[in-house]
Amino acid sequence: MTGAMSWQPPPDFSYGLPMPVPTPVPGCADCADFVARHRAARYVRDGSAAADARVLMRRHLDERHR
Ligand SMILES: [Zn+2]
Repeated sequence: MTGAMSWQPPPDFSYGLPMPVPTPVPGCADCADFVARHRAARYVRDGSAAADARVLMRRHLDERHR
């Protein structure tokens, strides 16, 4: 039974996969807009647009919802 010994952690599976969008603040139209943009970008498999939406949303969360 050497199978368990040779097991290695999987590579970083988060790389290349869609990252979760930050949690939107209820009632905030801007948050809802970022989530919608992220969802639309993922729908068309536009990874860079989805990443942009996440970055912009995190910045928005930091500036408006601290
Ligand atoms: Zn917001």
